[in-house]
Amino acid sequence: MEDQICFLLNSDFCILYSMLPLRHQQSRYLFQTFWLLVIVGMALAGASPQLWAVFLLAALFSTLLVKRAACSFACPLFPVGELLWRAGAKLFGRNFVAPFWFDLALRSAKYLVLGWVILALAGKPTGTALISVPMVLFIAGLLVLSLFFQMPWCRYLCPAGALLGLVAMASLLKIRRSPQHCVRCHKCSNRCPANLPVMLRTTLRSPECFACYRCVDGCPAPGALDLATPGKRVVPAWVVGTMVSCLLMLGIIVGTFL
Ligand code: SF4
Ligand code: SF4
Repeated sequence: MEDQICFLLNSDFCILYSMLPLRHQQSRYLFQTFWLLVIVGMALAGASPQLWAVFLLAALFSTLLVKRAACSFACPLFPVGELLWRAGAKLFGRNFVAPFWFDLALRSAKYLVLGWVILALAGKPTGTALISVPMVLFIAGLLVLSLFFQMPWCRYLCPAGALLGLVAMASLLKIRRSPQHCVRCHKCSNRCPANLPVMLRTTLRSPECFACYRCVDGCPAPGALDLATPGKRVVPAWVVGTMVSCLLMLGIIVGTFL
């Protein structure tokens, strides 16, 4: 499958990229940097609402193929969240985890936000000022909270993440654990920023999985954990990043001409 994907995308680029000695997450950081620049550039250039809408559609479509890689490889808020909780862990020696029932309730909040956004878009846009005192206070509070808890925006509030997560459940790519190779060290579960019980599953079907590869990179047992197809064909991060980037680029090109 990887070979066909490479051919479809750009075989020269794929061959060159696959020769780089990168771990999955290092590949992801490269894509994150690229998309941070592109999205900030789009915002500064005043991209039209149509362009953003097609961009979101492209992200949704990519989710069918490569789960929520659009979150972890392309959304500029994801690296901000990652940087903050890692800084918090360094500063305070640990991150905090909400009790399971509270965490579950908080995770559901993003679906309410999604519903509210859909209703707001369906009604008359009120033109609420994006920069207001409550908004600044909210963002400041969220940034501080992100030092103590992992990814509160992405996990609890982001409406786009809620939508992508629902579509991602239909994706054939999943984090898959091989009980034969697993040494049950808990590292995958401990490293998961979505607080998912990776070690307790053979196939992780959660809409919360960001496809971020942190669990895969942290696994000490070769062959125990991968992002893979139902036929156990392993899909590395550079393939996922290339696929999501091509689709998003296509979205930008189509959106530019609308
Ligand atoms: S990190 Fe790897 S070996 Fe350890 S529990 Fe998870 S899958 Fe098993
Ligand atoms: S299960 Fe693995 S890939 Fe999914 S969010 Fe957790 S660490 Fe990332």
